[in-house]
Amino acid sequence: MMLRTLFGYMFSGALLLLAVLFALTSAYAPMRIWISALLFLAGFGILYFVWKRQPTQIVQKLEMPGKIKVQAIKCPNCSASINMNQIKIVDGAPLVKCPYCGHTFQITEEPKW
Ligand SMILES: [Zn+2]
Repeated sequence: MMLRTLFGYMFSGALLLLAVLFALTSAYAPMRIWISALLFLAGFGILYFVWKRQPTQIVQKLEMPGKIKVQAIKCPNCSASINMNQIKIVDGAPLVKCPYCGHTFQITEEPKW
């Protein structure tokens, strides 16, 4: 994995160096500017690919806003108490599916009276 990344950097670096060389010498042969452009594109394309391949660790933390206790979560449809195990994170929002009536709802902060 590391070797492939290094190889990718070296290859794209060589391509970009060639692209610069072709661009500098394009004064003598106008066709070289197109080759240079192609080399630039290829070089940056590989760079982009290498960067995208970097493993990104996504850690999702379940943080409840305010003070929500287990017994405080109730289904708004049938008012059954919801277990913390039934909470699922969907698109960063804590969603709960009621095991009794199948109603899905998002956990929001309870209003403090
Ligand atoms: Zn319910």
